[in-house]
Amino acid sequence: MFQGLRWRLLLSQLMVMAAILSVFGAGVYVFLSRNLYRQLDKKLLTLAQSAAPSLVEVKDEGSQHLDQVDEVPWRDIFNRDKQSLEWFNADGKLLASRGVLELTVPPKVGSLTLKRMRKPNQVRTFTISVFKDGSKPNHPYLEGYIRASQSTEDVETIQYQLLWGLGMGGMMTLGLVAIGGLWLTQNALEPIEKSFRQLKQFTADASHELRGPLSVIQASVEVMRNHPERIHPKDAKKLASIASATTQMSHLAQDLLFLARAEADVSSPAHEWKPISLNSILQNLVELFEIIAQEKKITLQYQCRATVAVMGDEAQLTRLISNLLENALQYTLPAGQVVLTLAKHSRFALVSVQDTGIGIDREQLPFIFDRFWRADKARSRREGGTGLGLAIAQTIAHRHGGKITVTSQVGVGSCFQARLPLCT
Ligand code: ADP
Repeated sequence: MFQGLRWRLLLSQLMVMAAILSVFGAGVYVFLSRNLYRQLDKKLLTLAQSAAPSLVEVKDEGSQHLDQVDEVPWRDIFNRDKQSLEWFNADGKLLASRGVLELTVPPKVGSLTLKRMRKPNQVRTFTISVFKDGSKPNHPYLEGYIRASQSTEDVETIQYQLLWGLGMGGMMTLGLVAIGGLWLTQNALEPIEKSFRQLKQFTADASHELRGPLSVIQASVEVMRNHPERIHPKDAKKLASIASATTQMSHLAQDLLFLARAEADVSSPAHEWKPISLNSILQNLVELFEIIAQEKKITLQYQCRATVAVMGDEAQLTRLISNLLENALQYTLPAGQVVLTLAKHSRFALVSVQDTGIGIDREQLPFIFDRFWRADKARSRREGGTGLGLAIAQTIAHRHGGKITVTSQVGVGSCFQARLPLCT
């Protein structure tokens, strides 16, 4: 139980950490990428601004002007292999260009990222508009545009390295968190595990210790009831109540002790198990319950469809099936029917107990195997149940590597099916 809890805790810890790291990594990636593009834009803006004064000459003399001039201000900051500069007139017509990048799109003021045909990298462009003072003051007219462009190859390389670094860092952090988490969950669960063990031990000890005084009370009450002449008539009823309460308490103590021992693996350790014939267990139980069924005017049917043996403890397996049968007979009204079936399905033995009883509400089905749970408390108490019958049956099934499932409909009946692995 705690082993499963430990792994579930570790898994949820890792999932939370992975989510935090992903958000953090995505944040860092977006922030740094934006910064890289901002820096590139600044560089392109400076380049475009330094080329702006030459637009008038380019318009007048054409692109030859750029070859004639030795000293152009942008020459020192211009990287011919990666960047390009373009001069446009006010209508967006290309007048001249320098650099390796060939772009066919018209200029658009501001920064822009363009995809290139058949090229892996994109191109970042920055376009500025160039104005000239007009005839009227404060009314400059548009002279044209300068577009500076650069391949985003360098930025993409840094982005790729960043992604890789963040991915690797994240994986390593998750690995470390897993190791740390394992240690932490181990330490955190240790005291809980210890108190759980103590609680179980306490339940086992308490129910064991209760058995002694309870049998003394039971025996004394029995002795008193055997001599009715000594009992005041007014006390006879009280004595009957004491006897019934004592019987119920001793059943409860026995059930609690059984559960505590079964869970602690002390009553019948798995290495002592041997092949048990379910056919003979079921046959014996049918003979035993036939009498109760007749008393309650219920038809009890047994359908044996296979010869089945399972590895286990005979007393516990008998208890499992008798608890299911007991419930079926208890919650079925006179003239009803209870069918006990034994069958084989692949590597499992299937024992099903089907009744035409009162049934269980759909909403209550998930709780019926909980300890002390009853669909209708008043009714169950009247019938003398402890509320532990199904919890015990399920614990036994789990101990034997199986489980009990249930289908039920109110007013129609219930079907409990125990699935137990066959002897190998
Ligand atoms: P109890 O001692 O009260 O029978 P169980 O653990 O055996 O305790 O059963 C828990 C509850 O499940 C019962 O109180 C009853 O409400 C419901 N239940 C169990 N078996 C049946 C059944 N065959 N038909 C209807 N209700 C059932």
